[in-house]
Amino acid sequence: MDQKREFFLKAWVPRGLVCLAENIEEPRVTSEGLCPLKIGWEAGRISSIGLIDDLEAFPSNLLLPRLLEPHAHLDKAFTWRKFPNLLGRYNNALELNLKEFQTRTFSSVRERAKNALFLALRHGVRALRSHVDSIGPSSEASWEVLLDLRKEWKSFIDLQLVALVPLEYWSTRQGEILAARVASCGGLFGGVFAPPFNGNNDNSRLIKLLKLANKFGCAIDLHIDESQINPAAGLQQLIHALKQLKITVPITCSHSSSMGLLPSNRLRRLAEQLEIYGVNVIALPLTNAWLLGRNARATSCKRPLAPIQQLQQAGVTVAVGGDNVQDPWFPIGNFDPIALMAYALPIAQLAPWQRLGLAPFTTSAAYLMGLDWDGTIKLGSPADLLVLEADSWVGALAAPPSRKVLVAGRWLDDTSISHQNFNNFWTNE
Ligand SMILES: [Zn+2]
Repeated sequence: MDQKREFFLKAWVPRGLVCLAENIEEPRVTSEGLCPLKIGWEAGRISSIGLIDDLEAFPSNLLLPRLLEPHAHLDKAFTWRKFPNLLGRYNNALELNLKEFQTRTFSSVRERAKNALFLALRHGVRALRSHVDSIGPSSEASWEVLLDLRKEWKSFIDLQLVALVPLEYWSTRQGEILAARVASCGGLFGGVFAPPFNGNNDNSRLIKLLKLANKFGCAIDLHIDESQINPAAGLQQLIHALKQLKITVPITCSHSSSMGLLPSNRLRRLAEQLEIYGVNVIALPLTNAWLLGRNARATSCKRPLAPIQQLQQAGVTVAVGGDNVQDPWFPIGNFDPIALMAYALPIAQLAPWQRLGLAPFTTSAAYLMGLDWDGTIKLGSPADLLVLEADSWVGALAAPPSRKVLVAGRWLDDTSISHQNFNNFWTNE
């Protein structure tokens, strides 16, 4: 493919994601916030954005920037078959996770992570953050594999890695050694902070983690308040710790599910505190809806979930992630960001035709992941696009649509991706 030639595509583009030059008149916008545009690219960058003159020839595609997966677990993906959690309970998931962890090897993690990356790529993902179980015998192999893959996949997917350990681990000597290693390869510090809580001990553990993060300059991404009890107790403790120590790195709170159970006044005050301390949130509606609030013999109508809209109203940056895929924590999913948007529509009542319904999948997720490109389409932005065979949001979300993926101005060859032919991803055009 000649990179010096300019290529064009006519498509529907979300008005909120496109920046038009001042000399271009405002395009027509549908009730779903889409406008018909002619997008050009050259040498890997967007080179022109124009109106479509012929309104009879409306496009049949919906164009998006390549999307993001801000929260995944590549080391355990696709382990459901051997470790099914048929009752769908949180504690069973944890038990099975630990059993499966004992069997993890270099090659099993490589196989899973590769499958996940191929799926994510063909579904239109450009950056993915994965938590990595990081204590115990197989954790070394997991890091080795994932760091290798991060290098191999650099041109296709920006892979971010978070060391996932119990919170108290960061207070140990081994925790410090892990921190130094993670920092040396540009990773993030993670942890699980959920009931049962442990009062003053928790505070000193949080302070220790914050100090380590400051010392090594590593961002933090915690699994916090993934629970139906003690609403937001973990977040409250985090705020308490942040009042004692100034933090100089980004902090993200994944899940934050039980916060949704707070009475509205307390919820609003906590959201304001999170904004003041610059804490970001990743809501994970799928695993929360599946695992939390279960009753043995009754369908629960109370499903803890991060209060996305209240957080946004307080100015907190919120992204939505997929979390687990076909493992003991969640039986389905396949690293498809469009399917995630479709699920989030009824579960989280997020609609992509609203600005704050689309941001958690696009600009907010990019900001929270610290990416260079926020995903808005303007002259000079990367020609990294996802083109869906759909002429409306409803058409795109009703069933997973066919799609084409443009990476740095080149179309990916779907057949090569299907055969996991890493050396021949490009079409010949
Ligand atoms: Zn997770």
